[in-house]
Amino acid sequence: MKKPEMDEREKKGGVTRRQLLKGAVTAGIVASAGTMALNLTKGEADAAEKKMLPKKWDETLDTVIIGSGFAGLAAAAEASKGGAKVVIFEKMPVYGGNSVINGGEYNSWDDELHLREKLKLGDDSVDLHTKDTIKGGDFYGSPELAKILTEGATPALNWMIDDGGLKLRDILNRTGGHTAYRTHTCVEGVGRGYTEALKKIAESRGTTMRLRTKVLWIWRADTNGPVLGLEVDEDGKKKNIKIKRALILASGGFSWDIKMRQEFNPSIVPEFNCTNHKGATGEMIRYAQAIGADALQLCFIQLYPYAEPEKGTLDSPAVYPFRGPGYGIVYVDKKGKRFVNELERRDVVSRAEIATGMKPTYSIFNEKMIPKMGTKEEVEKGMARGRFVKADSIADLAQKIGVPPEALVDTINKHNLYLKDKKDPEFNKAINDVMLPMEEGPFYAIAQWPAVHHCMGGLRINKMAQVIDIWGAPIPRLFAAGEVTGGIHGSNRLGGNATPDCVVFGRIAGTNAAKEKA
Ligand code: ADP
Repeated sequence: MKKPEMDEREKKGGVTRRQLLKGAVTAGIVASAGTMALNLTKGEADAAEKKMLPKKWDETLDTVIIGSGFAGLAAAAEASKGGAKVVIFEKMPVYGGNSVINGGEYNSWDDELHLREKLKLGDDSVDLHTKDTIKGGDFYGSPELAKILTEGATPALNWMIDDGGLKLRDILNRTGGHTAYRTHTCVEGVGRGYTEALKKIAESRGTTMRLRTKVLWIWRADTNGPVLGLEVDEDGKKKNIKIKRALILASGGFSWDIKMRQEFNPSIVPEFNCTNHKGATGEMIRYAQAIGADALQLCFIQLYPYAEPEKGTLDSPAVYPFRGPGYGIVYVDKKGKRFVNELERRDVVSRAEIATGMKPTYSIFNEKMIPKMGTKEEVEKGMARGRFVKADSIADLAQKIGVPPEALVDTINKHNLYLKDKKDPEFNKAINDVMLPMEEGPFYAIAQWPAVHHCMGGLRINKMAQVIDIWGAPIPRLFAAGEVTGGIHGSNRLGGNATPDCVVFGRIAGTNAAKEKA
């Protein structure tokens, strides 16, 4: 795609308007390739701040992927298959980013085991998944990209099972904002199940990975030219790396960049906990913007409503409240009262929790629900760490967590009646036959509170996962996938959609990157 021709009217004293558009930030004006690099610097006056293209390259690589999470690994697998020689750069000392520690959930309307049919959990389709995804983000997401995600989710899941040895639990959940039981869980109950499968496929196809390799800059010489390479810090040593074929950004979101998240969404105050790994700092979004990439919807930042209240951790117990709504889990405040429809989206539940004005809130469930949400062993481990609280009666449970016993007993009795009547007069929850009344113990509680979790906004991509510049044209040889991208989920991402997003768009980015001529 060609950039719009420069309009004479845009010229001003020999300097183009494009070069002046930065406002407070001044452009590092484009020079001929080989001298000054295309970049936005902090001030034209400060020559030291200007980035000059490297005079010589320390190393030449074929294809580089930045980030070793779901998106980076899926991209690596497909780019390697397409004939690219792929190296993943990962700044942290361990691979996997947020992906490896995520809740292990994957939305797909079907799978090769046909779990939904086997477990008799009703109907679903790609269309329904697409509709839920778009509605769940208040119609701000791109319908075209959302459909690519939902259509690609099932083949990608089966691919990880067949080629990567991924194993799924024999459960399927209906989670907040979804109208069907489509949330799969891997046996590990954390994202590592998927990252290991993807890593296995990528490595078997020749991908290699360099840990402790932090990307510091993207080299590009002019607004029509391709990305040329990267400046990196590898184990404390600065290097310039030339890239022959393609660069794929799979560097995740910016939930841990407190300044950046507050700049785009002032309501995400620094006091919030964060579920992410410490490397989720979003610098790659800024570096891509500095070479002309467009970004969108950066203000849409998700709170995870069920994080551990003190530190904000998303450990395996913190996923139970998320998996539970389709089986009748009940959320209560410190007064023992329900405060929201448990089948609501994450943004709605988070806001309702904050509105209770009393930290924390709790999820209440009983023994019968455990196999629908996880495993007995997991719950026992969680109890040993003080995460789950157990009691033989609701009144005892209430006492243990410091909630008025009469109120909690009343809430659970009422909820049991709602399930029988198939009507929730308090919050209008859609009740079905699969939901279990809490009539027999033992009963369990887990504390929960919102923590910053996911950035829906990020770099603009097209359906080929090419990064789009501020003029609407793809930046040659530059691709992106996963949380670093924006515009797929709209204002709120439905739980369980992040993994298929990363894997599906990672595969697309990798396949298309390999088609570039080295
Ligand atoms: P996704 O879910 O989109 O795949 P993840 O958070 O799982 O994202 O993975 C992104 C990875 O990218 C993280 O492991 C993070 O450490 C890495 N990363 C982010 N920025 C850089 C950078 N500047 N250089 C190298 N690696 C980076």
